[in-house]
Amino acid sequence: MAHNVTLIPGDGTGPEICAVVKNVVAATGVEIQWEQVEAGVDIMKTAGTPLPDNVLASCRRTKVALKGPITTPIGTGFRSVNVALRKELDLYACLRPCRTYKGVKSRYQDIDLVVVRENVEDLYAGVEWPADSEESKKIIEMAKGKINPHAAISIKPISRFNSERLIRFAFEYAVKHKRRKVTAVTKANIMKCTDGLFYEVAREVAKRYDGKIEYEERLIDNMCMQLVQKPELYDVICLPNLYGDILSDLCAGLIGGLGIAPGANIGDNGALFEAVHGSAPKYAGQNKVNPTAVLLSAKLMLDHLGETDAAQRLEAAIADVIREGKNVTYDLGGKAGTSQMGEAIIEKLGKIPAAR
Ligand code: NAD
Repeated sequence: MAHNVTLIPGDGTGPEICAVVKNVVAATGVEIQWEQVEAGVDIMKTAGTPLPDNVLASCRRTKVALKGPITTPIGTGFRSVNVALRKELDLYACLRPCRTYKGVKSRYQDIDLVVVRENVEDLYAGVEWPADSEESKKIIEMAKGKINPHAAISIKPISRFNSERLIRFAFEYAVKHKRRKVTAVTKANIMKCTDGLFYEVAREVAKRYDGKIEYEERLIDNMCMQLVQKPELYDVICLPNLYGDILSDLCAGLIGGLGIAPGANIGDNGALFEAVHGSAPKYAGQNKVNPTAVLLSAKLMLDHLGETDAAQRLEAAIADVIREGKNVTYDLGGKAGTSQMGEAIIEKLGKIPAAR
């Protein structure tokens, strides 16, 4: 039976990447009934919102979505559609596996890290007020001299509820995927209440996995340095939202760039799969960018749908094309366009027999 999946092509380079991804997924033999809906800057012009209601309705109905990147204006304009989708659908865990593929020019080899990032709270909660607003003034008054009187304010909420389910997800992932260690990362020496709570909950959850999965803690600044110097020491890394966002890009850098870094946003009632990279608007419409990150996100989606054989074949076909280096995009040192790389992966898929 076909799987119903919502497809959000996004904007910028998203639509051209998603067109390729649809063809490649079809070549795995898995039947997908795509329900295509539009979100982002292009639909904003006609619908008056970058996130029309039918997008959320479709995601809620199918419970599985694949998304191309969506542009977020910096500083002004609408809030991030990506963040809104994660919040509205309560996709509390963001999973970002980072591994090196042979043929990718990178300063590191044999990287195999998994970033598990909290997805619905922290400084991403969107609770902030401009300088000199009534709300900012009230908070500044409460802070009794600790804040400059004209500061803009952002609130950083960290709850036991969201931390617990996120950290549990990280440990469960570690068990299921036979990983050895979870490292919790914060800046709890400075943010004793918020990041301190994250550690407190992490220690409680870790106890339940004692003897099965190792647990350790690192401060975010030290973690950045350690990852650059000795990435092989780490395995599953679990962190609050903002640190997770920044560290994900660092890990993408370790494996050779954003073009090959996939992601999944997972909740109890649905999942949305998307690349770490953004809409790369300067390359939109040029058939230039690398489809691999969204393709590897589709691989995570196939795993989630229980299509593990197809998922493995897809990853193997991608790895073959990258290793050969003949049909890869500019970021991997090649001259192929988005669609040519997709066609090469489809050809490889045809040569990898299905297990069934
Ligand atoms: P970006 O990831 O879009 O691009 C940064 C650079 O990385 C590009 O200029 C390009 O050189 C390279 N790059 C990115 N994707 C690539 C690919 N598939 N193949 C080859 N090279 C690639 O980051 P940005 O320019 O900071 O963001 C552009 C927009 O995307 C912003 O509006 C941002 O908010 C948004 N964004 C969206 C998401 C998402 O949809 N989940 C994630 C990150 C950023």
